[in-house]
Amino acid sequence: TEEQDYRARVEGADLPEHVRKAALAEVDKLERTSEQSPEVGWIRTWLDTVLEMPWNERTEDSYDITGARAVLDADHAGLDDVKERITEYLAVRRRRADRGLGVVGGRRSGAVLALVGPPGVGKTSLGESVARAMGREFVRVALGGVRDEAEIRGHRRTYVGALPGRIVRAISEAGSMNPVVLLDEIDKVGADYRGDPTAALLEVLDPAQNHTFRDHYLEVELDLSDVVFLATANVLESIPGPLLDRMELVRLDGYTEDEKVTIARDHLLPRQVERAGLTSEDVTITEPTLRKLAGEYTREAGVRQLERSLARILRKVTARVALDETTLPVTVDVPDLRTYLGSPKHTPESAERTAVPGVATGLAVTGAGGDVLFVEASLASPGTGASGVTLTGQLGDVMKESAQIALSYLRSNDERAEALADRGVHIHVPAGAVPKDGPSAGVTMTTALASLLSGRPVRSDVAMTGEVSLTGRVLPIGGVKQKLLAAHRAGITTVLLPQRNEPDLDDVPDSVLAELTVHLVADVREALDLAL
Ligand code: ATP
Ligand code: MG
Repeated sequence: TEEQDYRARVEGADLPEHVRKAALAEVDKLERTSEQSPEVGWIRTWLDTVLEMPWNERTEDSYDITGARAVLDADHAGLDDVKERITEYLAVRRRRADRGLGVVGGRRSGAVLALVGPPGVGKTSLGESVARAMGREFVRVALGGVRDEAEIRGHRRTYVGALPGRIVRAISEAGSMNPVVLLDEIDKVGADYRGDPTAALLEVLDPAQNHTFRDHYLEVELDLSDVVFLATANVLESIPGPLLDRMELVRLDGYTEDEKVTIARDHLLPRQVERAGLTSEDVTITEPTLRKLAGEYTREAGVRQLERSLARILRKVTARVALDETTLPVTVDVPDLRTYLGSPKHTPESAERTAVPGVATGLAVTGAGGDVLFVEASLASPGTGASGVTLTGQLGDVMKESAQIALSYLRSNDERAEALADRGVHIHVPAGAVPKDGPSAGVTMTTALASLLSGRPVRSDVAMTGEVSLTGRVLPIGGVKQKLLAAHRAGITTVLLPQRNEPDLDDVPDSVLAELTVHLVADVREALDLAL
């Protein structure tokens, strides 16, 4: 009978003792339950789920750290500090395992490496490389939009349509108890009335608890202590503090144009050539073409759009060959880009935007990486009765305060500023539909207003970032590398940076610093002198 069948499978399976006991109890229950009862279906599904789990399966780790580093190097160009950090992590893990020690526990333990950075910089694909480097199975758990604790920990079996949670499903998919599990987009986990997934994730990531993880569906304890958990995130702000405490952050801030060209040539192009059904003999895309694609057809911190553009070109090549419009081999050179992709999408706009007084170029970090933004200030026409300050562009509270501070500073330091009080001033930060916040636009706002007062346009090759205090001191800000990469992408040549951010320049690639003049300013007066 079916029950005997299950009994034989449970007895024959390689199960930990506590699982075998629980499974046999279920088989007993199955025997006692009438065929008609809906419970029969639930019990069978549960038994199938338990029997499919790789309870005693473990893959053998590759023990060679040199080899691991070689795998990381083969899969990704550049990213030296990231690879170094991952190599250290693997080496420490290996050494502790050899000495019979567990993973380091507790706060700030580095138990979980989190790869943090803008889209398309290779966070997910690095996770995959780590698995390859360790010789382990890889599973990605997409956490974007997960709002329900049961998604992580499963539903109780009495629940209609109950399923185990994502962690159990990941282990089952991996087919081993020691895979690399990538918790992808951990910053996009939300909480609502169905319970907070964060609590469940905390338990999963806690070395003191995760050897006895309990999924609500599975009920039997699951040992997650051999799993290597990695996480990825675009931004840190939306990650709950306790979760952040468990993670060791590794930042990927984006690539320079040179780096993008190398990545495209060595990684993206070969992959997309193959995807289009072509070979490397069939088609050549020249290096100047790759550079133009990176510089003018795409403007991003990572390489996702660049990869898409390559895919588009190669699809068109394949189609043209099929339609007898051309014959292989094909070479795609700079002038051909217009035929394949139309005209360039991104041309430097700073010169045009800052041509009138009252507009200054700022640098910001958004979820998509660094970007330039323009702060526009204008005076209301005389006699309209307007007064005070109007702020638009979906500015957050902190950014609104920066505008007030800029205004107050100018009122007490510039006699012409009286005009502002009487006539009313309007400050707008396009794009109007994108919410913005943070204090780092202080210098930019002050400069835009000062430009308005003096009637002198701001230098178009200058971009700036920095918080301003009421007395005009320039305070340090975050995201220096992302901001400087964005300035460089946008064709800016001079950047005004808070004096106290000087140490952060160490993180910025030399090739970018070589093409930028960076002025360190301590007082907003210095910024105004340089920008106007
Ligand atoms: P998102 O935040 O949007 O999920 P991501 O950082 O996870 O982005 P990936 O999907 O990992 O980005 O990377 C996009 C593509 O770019 C992948 O095909 C990846 O292999 C490739 N790529 C990114 N960086 C590099 C690199 N340094 N070397 C080689 N390929 C790279
Ligand atoms: Mg990703």
